[in-house]
Amino acid sequence: MTLKDEQYYSEGVLAQDKRIVAKTITLIESSLGQHQSVARQVINRLLPETGKAVRLGISGVPGAGKSTFIESLGTLLVEKGHRVAVLAVDPSSKRSGGSVLADKTRMEKLSVAENAFIRPSPSGGTLGGVARKTRETMLVCEAAGYDVMIVETVGVGQSETTVASMVDFFLLLMIAGAGDELQGIKKGVLEVADAIAVNKADGDNVERAERACQQFENALHYLTPASPVWTPRAMTCSSLELDNPGILKIWETILEHRRLYLESGALENKRQQQALDWMWSLLKAGLRERFFSNPNIVKRLSQMTRSVEKGEITPTAAADELLFSLDK
Ligand code: GDP
Repeated sequence: MTLKDEQYYSEGVLAQDKRIVAKTITLIESSLGQHQSVARQVINRLLPETGKAVRLGISGVPGAGKSTFIESLGTLLVEKGHRVAVLAVDPSSKRSGGSVLADKTRMEKLSVAENAFIRPSPSGGTLGGVARKTRETMLVCEAAGYDVMIVETVGVGQSETTVASMVDFFLLLMIAGAGDELQGIKKGVLEVADAIAVNKADGDNVERAERACQQFENALHYLTPASPVWTPRAMTCSSLELDNPGILKIWETILEHRRLYLESGALENKRQQQALDWMWSLLKAGLRERFFSNPNIVKRLSQMTRSVEKGEITPTAAADELLFSLDK
C-alpha cells in the first residue's frame, strides 16, 4: 500500500463519491493490518473535515419501528435538503438474519435517495470492535458531507450506552402496551436518553400511546438530567405516515437541543468527553490484549492459576508476579 492509496480514498471521500465512501468503510472494517494502516492514514487526513454533522442515536427493541421511523425521518430530512447517513451498531448481526439493517430493503425509499447513505452493521466482532468501526465510519461520512448521522442499535445489552457515547442526541423508540421490563429498558438506558418517542401512535393506538408517553415523562422526572441545559422529554409519533407531525416535532426537538448545547458550550464539552472516554477505553482494551497475548504471561498464567488453587501462593502474590513478568 502506498501514499497513492491514501489519497485515492481521502480525495474520493472529500469529493463525495458514494462508491469510494463505501470502499473506504470496507477498508475500515477490514481486519488486515495493511488495510488498517491505510485506514488510519485516511481518517487522520479526513479528521479536520469532520464534526459538523448532527449525530443522532436511535435505539429500541426489535419491532419498535426503528427502520420505519428512520425511513420517515430520513426522507423528511432529505426533502429538507439534508444529506443523511444511517449506520448500525449490532454486535449480534452475525446471527442468522441479523436484526439491524440486515435487510436494506427495510428502508426502501431512503436507500435509493440520492442524498442518503445506508450502511449495515459490520458483520461479526465484539461490541468494542463494531463500535470502533462505527465511530470511524461516522467520521468518513461527515467528511463526505453528510450533515445528519443516524446511528441505529437494537435495544438489548450494552449497545445502547455504546451508541449514546458516540452521538449528540440519543433517542429511545418505545411502543405502548409492553411493560418497561418487556421493552428491556434498564435505568441506565433511560439515563442516557435525551428523548423518548412512543411510536405507533396511530389508528386506535393513539390513546394508549399518549398514556405510555405520560408514564415515560413521569419516569424521566425522577432522573437527574445529564446536562443543566436540557431536560429529557417524552413524545409520541407515528412512523407510518410520512407527513406525521410527530416526526417533525422530534426533529425540531433535536434542533432545539442542538441550539442549547451549542450556545452553552455543552456540545463541545460532550464531544471532548466522548473523545477522551473513547481513548481510555481503547487504551484499556489494548493493555488487556497486550497482557494476555504476551508469551511470558501465557507461559506463567496456567502455572500461577494452579498454584493459587492449591494454596501454594496468595492471589496477591500471584497477580504481582504475573504483572511483573510482563517486562521480563
Ligand atoms: P424495528 O425492528 O424496530 O426496525 O421495527 P420495524 O421498523 O421493522 O417495524 C416493525 C413493524 O411495525 C413493521 O410491521 C412496521 O410496519 C410496523 N410499524 C413501524 N412503525 C409504525 C407506526 O408508527 N405505526 C404502526 N401502526 N406500525 C408501525
